Amino acid sequence: MSNRHQGRVAAVTGGANGIGRAFARRLAADGAAVAVVDLEPATETLAVLSGAGAEAASFACDVTSEDDVARLATEIGERFGRCDILVNNVGVYPNEPFEAVTFAKWRRVMAINLDSMFLTAKAFSPGMAERGWGRIVNMASNTFGTPVTGYSHYIASKGGVIGFTRALASDLADRGITVNAIAPSLVRTHGTQVTNPRSDERFAAVAAMQAIKREQRPDDLAGTLSFLASDDAAFITGQTLYVDGGWVRP
Ligand code: NAD
Repeated sequence: MSNRHQGRVAAVTGGANGIGRAFARRLAADGAAVAVVDLEPATETLAVLSGAGAEAASFACDVTSEDDVARLATEIGERFGRCDILVNNVGVYPNEPFEAVTFAKWRRVMAINLDSMFLTAKAFSPGMAERGWGRIVNMASNTFGTPVTGYSHYIASKGGVIGFTRALASDLADRGITVNAIAPSLVRTHGTQVTNPRSDERFAAVAAMQAIKREQRPDDLAGTLSFLASDDAAFITGQTLYVDGGWVRP
């Protein structure tokens, strides 16, 4: 670990579990103060961060709510003074055949996976622009480049994330803000084990399709996130990095 994020403040949405927890831990290990944002209590993540001596606090927020996100920006401002690094990690991935996807289910996935990123970018980018420095990292998925079935809403939302990442990168570039995305493979998390469980056979089948034939873990993504959030990545923007063991090659 390094001190590359010393003096920076990061907000990680969906930080109570899974990949978000690994991101929060890594940013803290690299010196950032971390705001853990989630619908659920982030007790375990905070315990990990505090145990490591990091400056951290949790914020209850539904990132699909414009009011909640506006309140979040105020609360993080009051607690930490600003937000330099925004990690849009919240996402849901129900697996169901197209026939079973109602418009309400479609809208829910779009609201959580895509609308939320619009709201948080709206809330946090003005402060970044004022200070002339900011990093926004959005969670995509390598399913955007695969023929997996049962994800019409999910893959459409992640395609939106990749498009939003490209467009926002252009709009914010002259404010010193970069915007990038990370596209993982199948990762063992709370979501893939409890909320929307995937079988061990599915994990094995996915690993077999990767060049690196082992299951992906949340920590496999943390180094890329830390890099994209750093000064070393200052000339990278609008990109989606496939951190997926070499499965999808866009
Ligand atoms: P997870 O389900 O383990 O954790 C997601 C967190 O988001 C939870 O703590 C949940 O409470 C929170 N959350 C959900 N809706 C929210 C809302 N409206 N407001 C605030 N918080 C909310 O998820 P994960 O598996 O760690 O996935 C994280 C991201 O990575 C998602 O965007 C997902 O699409 C993406 N991703 C995951 C995988 C995978 O296999 N796990 C693969 C590719 C991409």
